[in-house]
Amino acid sequence: MAYSKRIHEEAEAELLRRRSQAQREADARLEALFARCPEARDVRSRMAQTASGAAKAVLKGGNVRAQLLALKEENLALQARFAALLAENGMVREDIEPHFTCTICEDTGYVDGRICTCHKALLKRLAYESLNRVSPLTLSSFESFSLDIFSDEPARELGYKRSYRAQMEKILAYMRHYAETFSAQSGSLLLKGGTGLGKTHLSLAVAAKAIEKGFGVVYGTANQFASSLERERFQQTDEDAGDAFTLLCTADLLVIDDLGMEPKSSYTATMFHNIVDTRLMRRLPTIVSTNLTEEEIGERYAQRFLSRLLGYFDPLEFVGSDYRLRSRTRRRERDAR
Ligand SMILES: [Zn+2]
Repeated sequence: MAYSKRIHEEAEAELLRRRSQAQREADARLEALFARCPEARDVRSRMAQTASGAAKAVLKGGNVRAQLLALKEENLALQARFAALLAENGMVREDIEPHFTCTICEDTGYVDGRICTCHKALLKRLAYESLNRVSPLTLSSFESFSLDIFSDEPARELGYKRSYRAQMEKILAYMRHYAETFSAQSGSLLLKGGTGLGKTHLSLAVAAKAIEKGFGVVYGTANQFASSLERERFQQTDEDAGDAFTLLCTADLLVIDDLGMEPKSSYTATMFHNIVDTRLMRRLPTIVSTNLTEEEIGERYAQRFLSRLLGYFDPLEFVGSDYRLRSRTRRRERDAR
């Protein structure tokens, strides 16, 4: 996956910060030992002298072999003394060595010239954070979802088959189960229904569970994604170029909230279509919520986009007692435009 220059720079800076912090803390532990045990400092500096002595012996010539042997013995003796002093102070060798976040690459980010897994994970996290900064993840929970606002009247939208509350209970149970069993193989969901019926609340609750399980989640409104995509379109040379589109296509879970509320544009319509297609091909779960009807989706985007949603997404019908009133108002508003 390609990341922008800025994300790479942020990752390098973070690795450097980890490295220097580990080194600083190790130095501090060593200094604390020296303060308690001045002999340790002395032994340590003599160890350094034997190392430079070896180099000098080689440069000076003479009986190099004998000199090196003597220095080696002295160094071994010093090492043994130092180990004894550490033990006397209740410390081990590891205590004065840097404790790196990643023991594989020692926080350099590379192993044998190849990028380390910790570095890859860091790039991914930074890219998510950068995108979620645009669409802050204020997470909701299933526990805080209230069924009280839904009436016990039979729901007209469902042909009076079930009450509003019974339908919402069903949706709540479905989404809770979806979240609890969430995996990279989970299906995609299409949340339909008017505003204020809990589509955002419940999709955020799913996002929170997925994050808790360690999945990379991108959440945002269609409007926020549309602006990010438009920005990338016109700033191809920008350092962030490509991050949003790539992340939307590759996140473990993508939540597009309020599809249809973004400004109408054939460019973003095509991009949303591409994103959903790419994710379906990769079998990555997506949650789309919208208060558009199927007809409206077909009109606004492509018919092919609508058939993707209808064919591959599990539809969940959010209903409320005032939903009809709301949708009538909405229709009137639209007609007035
Ligand atoms: Zn590493």
